[in-house]
Amino acid sequence: MSQKIVYNYTKFTTTDYIGEISCVVWHISCNLRCKYCYNDNIVFSKQGLYSHKDVLEFLKRRKGLLTAVVLSGGEATMHDLRLFCKELKKMGFKIKLDSNGVNFEKIKELIDENLLDFISLDFKSTKEKFKFITLKNSYDKFLKTLKYLIEIKFPFELRTTVNADLLDENDINSMINTAFSIGYKDILYIQNFLQTDSNIGNISQKEVLNRSLIRKDLLDIEFRN
Ligand code: SF4
Repeated sequence: MSQKIVYNYTKFTTTDYIGEISCVVWHISCNLRCKYCYNDNIVFSKQGLYSHKDVLEFLKRRKGLLTAVVLSGGEATMHDLRLFCKELKKMGFKIKLDSNGVNFEKIKELIDENLLDFISLDFKSTKEKFKFITLKNSYDKFLKTLKYLIEIKFPFELRTTVNADLLDENDINSMINTAFSIGYKDILYIQNFLQTDSNIGNISQKEVLNRSLIRKDLLDIEFRN
């Protein structure tokens, strides 16, 4: 609890966990290396500014003002979150996890112990392009998590970040088909690659996604930006 694994935390937001007033906790480190990732400073950081204990101290003073805590990063499941989550639950906070879904065992453990209320799950790409985009061979692990969340009917959202130079309309349609075929029936949120000063792959974006070519017959599609 006293290791400095928290890069920073956002003290107040209403946009990260819809319907809740949240604190977002940005954890260092990640098990993927997505080319478009603009949180490279968080991903490569060896030490954060705060510990879970520090964040709990802050939250004690915010009880009654905040309703939820978002575990984000980097990839929060790189760390043992159980003690932290148990304390948050004792304090009455809802907990949302932002995750790439690769750490199936850690996610299952948190769900089994009733420590999560909601998950935002990243659907990075098709199986064929997963390594090309994330630089890791972890598609099957992600898919295991997605299947599990569907099977147990856990409340979650599925979202895809699109840099159209990396992921085209055919890829996205294939992902929609995959999600639908394993039983996902909800919304796929599609969010645009954000050009910032730096990202892991040092990339930009030349192509533009043609939204009209994205199939909408299987899932509801919502474009976020
Ligand atoms: S975008 Fe990719 S590399 Fe960056 S934090 Fe998310 S999963 Fe990790």
